[in-house]
Amino acid sequence: MPPDLPPVDPALVAEAAAMDAATAAARHADLAVEVERANRRYYEEDAPEISDAEYDRLFRELVALETAHPQLVTAESPTQRVGGAPAGEVFSEVRHRRPMLSLSNAFSHEELRAFDARVRRGLGLPAAPEPADELRYVAELKIDGLAVTLRFERGRFVQGATRGDGTTGEDVTANLRTVGAIPDRLEEAVTADVRGEVYMPKSEFARINAERAESGLPLYANPRNSGAGSLRQKDPAVTASRLLSAWTYQLIEDGAPAIATQSAALARLVSLGLPVNPDHAGGLDIEGVIAFAERWREARHALAYETDGVVVKVDRYDQQDRLGMVSRAPRWAIAYKYPPEQVETMVEDIVPYVGRTGTLTPVAHLTPVKVAGSTVARATLHNLDEVGRKDIRIGDRVVIQKAGDVIPEVVRPVVDRRDGSERVFEMPAACPVCGTSVVRDEGAVRIYCPNGACPARLAQEYAHFVGRGGMDIEGAGWVVLSQLLERGLIHSRADFFRLTVEQLESLDRFARKSAENLLRSIGRARVGRPLARVLFGLGIPQVGESTAIDLARWLATRVRPDDYPPPHADMIPDAWFAAVDAELRRVATEQPDALTEVEGIGPLVAAAIARYFSEPATAAAMTELVEAGVVPERPSVPPPGVDVAEGPLVGKTIVVTGTLGGFSRQEAEEAVRAAGGKPVGSVSKKTDYLVAGENAGSKLAKAQELGIAVVDEEGFRRLLAKGSD
Ligand code: NAD
Repeated sequence: MPPDLPPVDPALVAEAAAMDAATAAARHADLAVEVERANRRYYEEDAPEISDAEYDRLFRELVALETAHPQLVTAESPTQRVGGAPAGEVFSEVRHRRPMLSLSNAFSHEELRAFDARVRRGLGLPAAPEPADELRYVAELKIDGLAVTLRFERGRFVQGATRGDGTTGEDVTANLRTVGAIPDRLEEAVTADVRGEVYMPKSEFARINAERAESGLPLYANPRNSGAGSLRQKDPAVTASRLLSAWTYQLIEDGAPAIATQSAALARLVSLGLPVNPDHAGGLDIEGVIAFAERWREARHALAYETDGVVVKVDRYDQQDRLGMVSRAPRWAIAYKYPPEQVETMVEDIVPYVGRTGTLTPVAHLTPVKVAGSTVARATLHNLDEVGRKDIRIGDRVVIQKAGDVIPEVVRPVVDRRDGSERVFEMPAACPVCGTSVVRDEGAVRIYCPNGACPARLAQEYAHFVGRGGMDIEGAGWVVLSQLLERGLIHSRADFFRLTVEQLESLDRFARKSAENLLRSIGRARVGRPLARVLFGLGIPQVGESTAIDLARWLATRVRPDDYPPPHADMIPDAWFAAVDAELRRVATEQPDALTEVEGIGPLVAAAIARYFSEPATAAAMTELVEAGVVPERPSVPPPGVDVAEGPLVGKTIVVTGTLGGFSRQEAEEAVRAAGGKPVGSVSKKTDYLVAGENAGSKLAKAQELGIAVVDEEGFRRLLAKGSD
């Protein structure tokens, strides 16, 4: 076998060896094109077209062909390269001090044992393990995120980059600064490269995709692509609006660090204040590694983030050095990949659901079946074209899986099992909820109920308005919302701000205290939510979170906040919001083209915004909020997450804990950022202030132990204003 190819199943190699040179070359050329295309879609566009399992199958076949026909190996072959090209036009490039590699894969216990045998041979150890063996492995969960390298200089985070092609990555420092898990300062003033994985929690992936589906935007395939897409945004404010987190697993310290093993490196990363996934195990032989992988096979589905396997690493660095690497991966590590879980079930019915913007989405009602850790009874089929393309019929046996371990997906019908009783699904001509004739715009995929007052639409519009990406009214969940609607207490978004304690108390399972709590969170939402969130909460067609941020900024430059100063320093600048509303409606009716000036907004989105603010049925939505006393935050302050060179809290690290009366946790953190400071999650020696609200617990104790300044809510307000208490 040529030395620079990853190991591969011998049966595949034998098959490739049976081909004559010309056939092998032709097949190789086809495969290389397919893999290249998949790489581009996956690494550069964050939008894969094929599943990871399918990609891995193509890649293995390519390796097998090159192993059997070494003349096919060229420097351009995908087997010799890592990842995709950095997007130089968007980000500046960063040359890695040491290459960032890929990993060879194992897909079975046998392949893991074969890896162990290769390692033993490479180290000159006997084939069978012995108790006194000096070979030990560390097993870590393989996080399905985006690999990043973080540069710390004298303890400070100075630069972060993606892996790119392994040699050169993209500079995403500003975006990484918005990821709360990545500390701005380490516990010690070391200079080091730290490598790890930035990931999007499954819940956030589900939230974002639900939003995108409703707005008619293409869906992210899985949390990995959604996380990568979020981190590789040109605007850090967009990254900040998504919830991302990180685990680190590699430490390359400058100077002569006294670390000799991967397990010691993980412990050191923890002591430096970096996030390390606690679910790893050391001191293992290969059977211990297999047991670890089996233990996590099912259990991993309950984790908050997605894993696609287990990374196995030789623990000792001297042994790692002796083993070295092949062209794109180290010889001392391997990624064991779990097979995607697919199961069969039956489509009992296909039912159209009406969404927030009226879109009718066909949903498959399935015979409940367990897949990837939970029971699945429904799966969205997205739209009529998709049902036709996959040819899914009512009564079909189908193969299902979970996209990114989260969203149930119908992969294909099992055509052989058809008996002729299956029925082709047809969209109804009228909305199943209000009976209005449905519409399909010329050339569009989406079929929708055009009735703005359709009860199904309204309920979801309101849920969107009070939801996390919008006004974020804590306690106004679906159960409360449906009661408010049933009792006729809500007829517009503005009505939320007119609810009284008595009205809320009359809801099922509500007492005085719960009514007061809900009223308090409504009060918190009334003042100071970023304008972008108010705009997003309106549910304007085509306007997602990032467009809302762009639109809010543009409005802030058109309607200068300084022209509408509050009469007193502590008074609310509501005249500004009224002026923004008037300006939007004026632009929408008189000069809709002006909206295409907004960075990031194209003609289609501009037209959707103009339509929304010029049609009487929708144009009043924001005016009603102005009248109900809603006062958003003016985007004159730097947007969340953007590094500011000024502000009273520049260079200060602040931890917020416990419950504050006037701020939700998210708002407190946004306020810290807006004042130039860095909000972090845990207390350390580097913390400048701990803001302790009611019921502060272990963080308060730790801050007191470390002698860190503790302030209450009043003190926090002074900090935000003056930078000291
Ligand atoms: P990989 O994902 O198989 O493994 C290497 C990566 O694992 C590292 O770069 C690192 O980012 C990551 N990793 C996660 N947890 C880790 C840990 N604890 N320790 C060390 N590393 C850890 O290899 P790759 O080169 O990044 O990507 C190839 C894979 O990407 C394919 O096998 C496939 O699954 C997927 N892919 C899919 C498509 C597609 O079209 N669906 C296209 C290209 C690649």
